[in-house]
Amino acid sequence: MSLLNSALVSFVKLLPTSVVHIFAKKYIAGEDLQDAIIVAKQLNEKGIVATLDVLGESIKTVEEAAEEKEECLRVLKAIDENKLDANLSIKPTSLGLSIDKEYFYKNMKEVLLKAKEYNNFVRVDMEDSPYTASTIEYFLKLQSEFDNVGIVLQSYLRRTESDVEGLNKTNTNYRLCKGIYVEPEEIAFKDKQLVRDNYLKVLKQIINNGSYVGIATHDDYLVDGALEIIKNLDLYKDKYEFQMLYGVKEKLRDKINRDGHKIRIYVPYGKKWYAYSIRRMQENPEIAMHIAKSVLKLD
Ligand SMILES: Cc1cc2nc3c(=O)[nH]c(=O)nc-3n(C[C@H](O)[C@H](O)[C@H](O)COP(=O)(O)OP(=O)(O)OC[C@H]3O[C@@H](n4cnc5c(N)ncnc54)[C@H](O)[C@@H]3O)c2cc1C
Repeated sequence: MSLLNSALVSFVKLLPTSVVHIFAKKYIAGEDLQDAIIVAKQLNEKGIVATLDVLGESIKTVEEAAEEKEECLRVLKAIDENKLDANLSIKPTSLGLSIDKEYFYKNMKEVLLKAKEYNNFVRVDMEDSPYTASTIEYFLKLQSEFDNVGIVLQSYLRRTESDVEGLNKTNTNYRLCKGIYVEPEEIAFKDKQLVRDNYLKVLKQIINNGSYVGIATHDDYLVDGALEIIKNLDLYKDKYEFQMLYGVKEKLRDKINRDGHKIRIYVPYGKKWYAYSIRRMQENPEIAMHIAKSVLKLD
């Protein structure tokens, strides 16, 4: 991030949360599960599927992780009761990965069992690099016991190609994204085009293996690149879906949907919306610029 952008984000962090909320709400369904259910219903009515995410990073205690797990169970129940075409995405640290790996594993098993009962699916999100290896390690354990679990890989990480090589040996269901965290150059590509090139390279590696992939991006270049791969390989529609974040590039979302490709929207909700919103601004400082201008009446 440039100095100006990081200054903008720092400025936004100084603002009252009520002001940030006015801008953040575009990207978050609301604070309660019911808000996410309403959004998922509206998406389903347009033929778009959803994945629900309970905003629960920075979990520090076993009790907090237990509460997050309970909320995940409530999400699965609500999806079932409302007959939604939606699944669940989980950040591993929200279920305790940073506290105790075995505890995380136990929580995930409970959630996956419940999801199985409802004939539903759970995607394990990928967080920052201290958790990459353990997330993959525990995902593989879970995948050997459950067929309703998938993982996320990040094309900015140099290790991803070799992770796919390993994961391709099992029947892995992937989401491929660029990666949202700030990582050191030793382990991550920093150049925008290198991240894109690696994305398309890894996407082909996954598709050529016959694995299912969620193509998670709003980048026109990558959407076009993915569409070309899909067309050239005459890829069946049951082998891929596009994925985007709630509130981002809705015109592109609708076009992909109109063109007959499956598209899933990531719908975050919860009381911990602030950290998520600040991370979105770090990712896209245009949002921070917009807030700063409005607050300072520069428009
Ligand atoms: C469904 C889904 C799930 C994801 N899960 C993970 C995960 O588990 N782990 C992880 O590290 N990352 C995850 N990400 C984030 C991802 O890694 C990228 O950081 C993010 O998608 C931006 O990259 P991009 O490919 O859209 O390209 P960019 O070049 O960053 O974006 C293209 C354009 O889209 C718009 N845009 C992109 N992002 C935003 C935003 N946040 N707010 C407003 N506008 C935006 C901007 O106009 C931008 O110019 C996920 C993304 C999606 C879509």
